[in-house]
Amino acid sequence: MKIQELYSKQQVFFNSNETKNISFRIEQLKKFRKILEENESELYAAIFEDFGKSEFETFESELSLLYHEINIFVKNIQRWSRRKKVSTGLINFPAKSYIIPEPLGVTLVIGAWNYPYQLSMLPAITSIAAGNTVIIKPSELTSKTSAIMAKIINTNFPSNFLHVVEGGIPVTKELLTHRFDKIFFTGSIPVGKIIYQAAAKHLTPVTLELGGKSPTFVLADCDINVTAKRIVWAKFLNAGQTCVAPDYILVDQSIETKFLEALRSNIKEFYTVAGDTSDNYVQIINTANFDRLQKLLDPNKIYCGGEIDRERRFISPTILQNISFDDEIMQDEIFGPILPVVSYSDLDEAIQHVKARPKPLACYVYSKNRKTIAKVLKEVSFGGGAVNESVMHFANSNLPFGGVGLSGMGSYHGKSGFDTFSHFKSILDKPFWFEANIKYSPYSKNKLKIIKWLFK
Ligand code: NAD
Repeated sequence: MKIQELYSKQQVFFNSNETKNISFRIEQLKKFRKILEENESELYAAIFEDFGKSEFETFESELSLLYHEINIFVKNIQRWSRRKKVSTGLINFPAKSYIIPEPLGVTLVIGAWNYPYQLSMLPAITSIAAGNTVIIKPSELTSKTSAIMAKIINTNFPSNFLHVVEGGIPVTKELLTHRFDKIFFTGSIPVGKIIYQAAAKHLTPVTLELGGKSPTFVLADCDINVTAKRIVWAKFLNAGQTCVAPDYILVDQSIETKFLEALRSNIKEFYTVAGDTSDNYVQIINTANFDRLQKLLDPNKIYCGGEIDRERRFISPTILQNISFDDEIMQDEIFGPILPVVSYSDLDEAIQHVKARPKPLACYVYSKNRKTIAKVLKEVSFGGGAVNESVMHFANSNLPFGGVGLSGMGSYHGKSGFDTFSHFKSILDKPFWFEANIKYSPYSKNKLKIIKWLFK
């Protein structure tokens, strides 16, 4: 179907007001859940073909979140869509005031490849919950997962309501020529800028879920083994191809040696390193990314790992040591299974280094000292994060998820996602039975006095 035709059909359907009915939205969400359940085995097979992601990781980091959020929306849409009363003030007596959440219209969701199901379907589910129609454009890099999403969605939902459009840059460019009521983009900072510019032509509101280098502070008083265990899991999940993965470590130099040892022993426990052909550990998405990552592997700085196999696009979980902020690995988001460890002697200096860079998407701090934790949380600006944990804040739907500064704008998950895809229409509602007349001319000193009093 031509994009112009698809877009026009969605506009017509949105204007029919059908999606504004809560019962319609709940029905569609339940149907979405059923379709996911019925096609789980195909979804697992497709993602394994794309980059060797296991059923376990796919459920844990993708499908579970989709089911969870569908359930949250089904349970709460009715309440969240209700008009909300607010106070009015004497100046408008005897009116009442309320806010009506309303859908925005025809929305576009552009997904990234690294969590291909979740990053395309979660915003789409959220947009449906808020009462919009949706066009999804998943990443072309994970072609098998894009194809299966197109198949299960396009055969089960009418295109005037929800449709997947597959394709690369030319398709996205064509989509962006249309005046969407909302664009939700997940991807890199450079492409985020392209999307923002295209949206600006139509004054279309955007949510940009971008990336960046997320620091992890490991302080001298942390529990070293638990810290290392949580970091190893968070970093090497999806082979480091996670937007909120700890990008680099800032460790207090007094515990550096012990911490490095703890990282290594946890890696050994979790992964059968070289030659691992199990489905425990995913592949690098393509050879271009493999080659980019390989260049970052400075042999003089490898503490452990560093095994590679280009044919299988395999890079073992790797720790780099003796890293400074000038090293190449510290310049851009790594987005792969390489973890540089920078040691510091002065926390203030370490914080200054982080603050000298663009605001990260995530930040983690491991410590038992509440004062130091509070200091890091106060002084460093970042999208969201965790204390004594990494990545898992993503899984709490009560925490709005999104970036700040170069790591993105806007947020989603749970109620914040519903709000992102809604407009809040403010209404003042006044009866006819009373007219104070003070706002009308002829003006007088007395009227002014009353107005001044009313506004105080
Ligand atoms: P990407 O920016 O290359 O691609 C994202 C989407 O944009 C894809 O659908 C792609 O087809 C499209 N696209 C690519 N180039 C385009 C162009 N010139 N014009 C129009 N559309 C274009 O990102 P990616 O490689 O898929 O994902 C990796 C990046 O995404 C990382 O930076 C990562 O941190 C970030 N990310 C952020 C989040 C988040 O929630 N904040 C989640 C996952 C990934």
